[in-house]
Amino acid sequence: MGTSINGAASEHCKVIIIGSGPAGLTAALYSGRANLNPLIFEGHQPGGQLTITTEVENYPGFEHGIQGPELMDVMRKQAYRFGAKSIFRNITEVDFSSRPFKLTDEENKKYTADTVIVSTGASAKWLGLESEKIYMGYGVSSCATCDGFFFRGMKVVVVGGGDTAMEEANYLTRHASEVILIHRRDEFRASKIMQDRVKSNPKVTLMMNCVVEEILGKDEDNKKSVVGVRVKNVVTGEVKTIPVSGFFTAIGHEPNSKLFKGILDMDENGYLITKKSTCETNIEGVFACGDVQDNYYKQAITAAGTGCMAAIDAERYLEVKEYEESIKN
Ligand code: NDP
Repeated sequence: MGTSINGAASEHCKVIIIGSGPAGLTAALYSGRANLNPLIFEGHQPGGQLTITTEVENYPGFEHGIQGPELMDVMRKQAYRFGAKSIFRNITEVDFSSRPFKLTDEENKKYTADTVIVSTGASAKWLGLESEKIYMGYGVSSCATCDGFFFRGMKVVVVGGGDTAMEEANYLTRHASEVILIHRRDEFRASKIMQDRVKSNPKVTLMMNCVVEEILGKDEDNKKSVVGVRVKNVVTGEVKTIPVSGFFTAIGHEPNSKLFKGILDMDENGYLITKKSTCETNIEGVFACGDVQDNYYKQAITAAGTGCMAAIDAERYLEVKEYEESIKN
């Protein structure tokens, strides 16, 4: 996937970017153009959440939309043009107690950095049912675009009432014979245009005011599969079992911020806290951008915007530090 380097022991960088969604790659583009030679840790989902989506219709500049993975690929290539490099591993340890900051990756390779930009994004939430774990990958999924194909001609369920649920339900009708959309309330929070698409899709059946109590499955010849869901109507109390082969959750996301617990300030949901109108965290020289610090807008374009801000913040911070060093000597 384009330029990559092998991490040498204690490699030093001016800017290390952790995460490679629109925020991280935009931070890489801007810090690359500022001659800061950023090193991006892309992790195991290079490109982030947009790589598991299909059509992105609301990213400015693409009149007819663009596929999520293609958008991320183009963003990465654009950043590489200005000297950014990638390592396709996760950072597993950070020490921000003194400068330069110390980082360790999953292969125990060590890095130091003058500034760090955190753009680790967010991951899909789960209902928390034991059966979700048992049948994960065997009929349970949180990514219709990744797994929809496996359910050709079958009946599937999508849970959720936001834009993601609408998008997933619509997408799944390309493959599935029927999509049952289950939502816990009597109204969707999704945007009107997305709701309308779902409501006018003859292959989608809505089940409002309903919660999933259990995913039902079987394990035959060491092969697990989903065979149904048990659903309760929270208004009438009625419990129903519906035969389905696939189960997709689309109930939102949680920030990927565990690595920074006790180090960077975060809110009660784990979103990193940045200072007003900047991407500065509580640690000078560490910046945060994208969905890991945004519980409100959560858009590719806003993530990219904050990625740009974080890179400018890092550049200015380095300039000030360099000036301070120069007048000391
Ligand atoms: P949201 O947080 O918007 O919606 C989550 C949905 O899941 C809500 O309907 C919520 O119900 C439901 N939910 C949450 N927890 C549970 C639970 N434990 N059990 C059952 N249901 C639950 O997340 P999305 O991922 O849908 O969207 C995130 C952001 O991304 C939004 O800003 C959205 O607009 C944007 N987006 C835009 C797209 C586009 O424009 N193409 C595509 C996809 C997302 P309730 O409503 O009752 O709280």
